[in-house]
Amino acid sequence: MTREEELVQNYKEITEKVNQECQKVGRSARSVSIMCVSKTYPLSDIQTLQTHGIRCFGENRAQETIEKFPERPDDLELHFIGHIQRNKVKKILPRCSWLDSIDSQRLLNEVLKQQANTDSVQPVNLLFEVNTSGETQKSGIESIEGLYDILDLIDRTPDYQRLVNPRGLMTIGPLTDDESRIRRCFRHLRTIFEEIKGQNRYPHFDTLSMGMSSDFPIAIQEGSTMIRIGTHIFGKRNYA
Ligand SMILES: *Cc1c(COP(=O)(O)O)cnc(C)c1O
Repeated sequence: MTREEELVQNYKEITEKVNQECQKVGRSARSVSIMCVSKTYPLSDIQTLQTHGIRCFGENRAQETIEKFPERPDDLELHFIGHIQRNKVKKILPRCSWLDSIDSQRLLNEVLKQQANTDSVQPVNLLFEVNTSGETQKSGIESIEGLYDILDLIDRTPDYQRLVNPRGLMTIGPLTDDESRIRRCFRHLRTIFEEIKGQNRYPHFDTLSMGMSSDFPIAIQEGSTMIRIGTHIFGKRNYA
């Protein structure tokens, strides 16, 4: 099998599993999008999938993203999903149309500052990463109050719509075989997501990013609208 055949088959298998899970819980398959997490894999894999009409990709390391994408990729929705250091924001922003891991006011401030300094700026889509598992080695906002503090900072920024587009929430499920624990975390994030959505604060707050290769069926059952799949599409990684 060629690499192309392998990638396309893996992607197809995921879409079929997504369809099945959606059917089980009475959701439309179109309500869940699949992000291909291409970290550690070469640009050629991304381009191969792109020729099959697949457009949504995620990277988690700043240096790798900068090297893989010398400039903003054409016709591709690139998400930055890893922990973001403030001194990398300036280089990540021109390449990625989504930052999925906003987890502090200081980071958000840096994003707003860099965007304000950019000529003919495009608003960058933002997800706020919440630490739902309580695992201390994970990044993410630790409390609901912390999340609202970040949203308040956006609301206080004059004309923020020109710079950022708040799109939703993201979480990484706990690293465990205990399905009920994973489910509790996803359900918790969904509740927060619905609460903010219900406030009609932001016109495009429509994305709940949860679920990876190992736990996406649970995430879909719990309302995820975007799953992040690496291993099941590209194969096992040696690191990260
Ligand atoms: C690597 C990564 C994924 C994908 O993980 P897989 O288990 O390989 O599907 C998803 N989300 C984040 C934030 C990641 O860093």
